[in-house]
Amino acid sequence: MKDILTAPFMSEMIRTTTNMYDHGWDERNGGNISLMLEEKEAAEYLDMGKVLRTIPTGFTAPELEGKVFLVTGTGKYFKNVQYAPAVNLGLVRLAGKGTEAELLWGFEDGGKFTSEFPAHMMSHVARLKVDPGNRVVMHCHPANLLAMTYVHDLNERLFTRTLWQMCTECIVVFPDGVNILPCVVCGTNQLGLDTAEKMKTARLVIWAQHGLSGMGSTLDEAFGLIETAEKAAEVYMKIAGLPRVNTIPDSILKGLAERFGLTPREGYLDL
Ligand SMILES: [Zn+2]
Repeated sequence: MKDILTAPFMSEMIRTTTNMYDHGWDERNGGNISLMLEEKEAAEYLDMGKVLRTIPTGFTAPELEGKVFLVTGTGKYFKNVQYAPAVNLGLVRLAGKGTEAELLWGFEDGGKFTSEFPAHMMSHVARLKVDPGNRVVMHCHPANLLAMTYVHDLNERLFTRTLWQMCTECIVVFPDGVNILPCVVCGTNQLGLDTAEKMKTARLVIWAQHGLSGMGSTLDEAFGLIETAEKAAEVYMKIAGLPRVNTIPDSILKGLAERFGLTPREGYLDL
């Protein structure tokens, strides 16, 4: 059996959490990630018949029965993942129609998965229906997107258009735009359900005055999506208090979408 710390999915996860911390997106124990793996990917490194512990999930997700996830731990700091991956991460397989998580590796201090695990699983279920290649749910607190939710209208079309107008790559990276949930109490199954619903039409869902969740087929893709939106929000926060002399007109946004063969969210351009 190969050493799991040498697995590509493990080094990617460690690099990603470290990078997110370094970007200032995951202060203290903020943020969480779940990465869905093929059972055979994990089986190169683990005896899949050896369950260390069974942890109740608090939800039902028959669609995810038997699915394997590498996930960050509750109360754990992203900055520490690189030094103690087996404490701060865990590899689980969902059983009992998703009501139980079988721990196959990690959470060595007796810990368990992020408190947002139900929200992650609901988002995976919802997104897989519209995008069977989706593997990642990533939640974090980037400062500029967060700041923007205090000063910008939370209408999804208006918010998306502003981000698209901040740099030309935005409409190319997220032609589906961003969806937004108002400020609510986090960690509830209701927020999980609401987020999952929003994930059906966009890969980025902003939780006003809290943070956001991004999705993708790889850790790089989800990270890059958040990175691009956060850059746009940073530009917006630099110029929001200044007279706007120039902008990216809709004709250019449309041209960019055509150039890259993408379909912008229906009705979001004034053309
Ligand atoms: Zn959060």
